[in-house]
Amino acid sequence: MSLKALTILGSTGSIGVSTLDVVQRHPERFRVFALTANHNVERLLEQCLACQPDYAVMLNEPAAEQLELRLKATDSITKVLAGKDALEQVAAHPNTEYVMAAIVGAAGLLPALAAARAGKRVLLANKEALVMSGQLFMDAVREHQAELLPIDSEHNAIFQCLPAQGGKQGVERILLTASGGPFRQRALADLQKVTPEQAVAHPNWSMGQKISVDSATLMNKGLEVIEASWLFATPLECIEVVVHPQSTIHSMVAYTDGSVLAQLGNPDMRTPIAYALGWPERLVSGVAPLDLFAVARLDFEKPDLQRFPCLQLAYDAHARGGFATIALNAANEVAVQAFLERRIGFMDIPRLISDVMKLADTGTPVHLEDIIIQDEVSRTASSSWIKNNRAL
Ligand code: NAD
Ligand code: MG
Repeated sequence: MSLKALTILGSTGSIGVSTLDVVQRHPERFRVFALTANHNVERLLEQCLACQPDYAVMLNEPAAEQLELRLKATDSITKVLAGKDALEQVAAHPNTEYVMAAIVGAAGLLPALAAARAGKRVLLANKEALVMSGQLFMDAVREHQAELLPIDSEHNAIFQCLPAQGGKQGVERILLTASGGPFRQRALADLQKVTPEQAVAHPNWSMGQKISVDSATLMNKGLEVIEASWLFATPLECIEVVVHPQSTIHSMVAYTDGSVLAQLGNPDMRTPIAYALGWPERLVSGVAPLDLFAVARLDFEKPDLQRFPCLQLAYDAHARGGFATIALNAANEVAVQAFLERRIGFMDIPRLISDVMKLADTGTPVHLEDIIIQDEVSRTASSSWIKNNRAL
């Protein structure tokens, strides 16, 4: 067994911290090559001291300077870099074999793509990258013989339930489970008034703020439907969203003979992370064994598209093509940020996205530059929507 070098993009976030937790249980298998963060100096410093990576990258330059000063005061060997290009450099570096792509949002696209283009084992948590550039990303994986392993718990579950020999022989449908979020039982009339604090209080999972709000609007499930469609080359008609409030079944695959295979476990991201790190082997992850008697029951419901229009918007966007999914993602990121800052209400999130999506062309961009331009144009439109009180 050879020691694998690993880059963790977004190491200070929820997925990044869980990844380090798993990696530190297996010092004979993994060595941390690089850690990256936006601006959290304290946490990145702590992580650098604990695992002595070759590189630490911060997007924010003053934060990188601070980190460098703090590291110099220790006997650390870690070199500090700053800026966007450095994120791509450590993702594509010849001395790293595995890359955990766990930056949140569109900011994660370029470094994740750089890892794919360099033929790495890419552990993909950053679903927004696939929503923005599914075709281009999957082509890069194939062309450069990268290994793409899904970290999103649902996609990781589907990956585990698909035929072991690869391919999709006998697969009829993918059943993508959703917890339903904190507002599963709220009346439509009450949803506009919910607060950011209520929205980020997820009933089962502890996650970053953006994905927590996405789970509350069900946009997270919408992004995941698009993600699943690209990862498993499956049309939308063959992907069914099933609300399952216990979050014990992480997703299922239905076969032509009537069999349905499911992956179950406690809602703890260290399971999918360990699976992708060890694949095809299984690793100890630190996750407690599933106690079915404590779970006691498993419930299933259909998603309510009236109360959660973001899921419908994601279906519509995917049917329209890549420009629309980039617009969906960009508008959602701007809307979620504005909601968290109390500048718009909860039900304004789907209104804003719907209006901004209408401006996007049909069809799918083939060049990365076109993807980036559509992202910027949709962000600008979203900001004006908020500033001009819904007039575009
Ligand atoms: P988080 O907000 O906790 O962490 C985000 C990380 O990205 C941090 O390290 C932050 O420093 C870094 N970052 C943020 N903006 C950046 C920028 N502009 N440039 C460079 N780095 C930046 O987020 P998270 O919950 O860990 O989610 C990360 C990704 O994983 C998201 O795409 C999310 O959808 C996906 N995901 C998360 C979970 C979960 O349980 N948290 C589950 C499934 C998928
Ligand atoms: Mg998920």
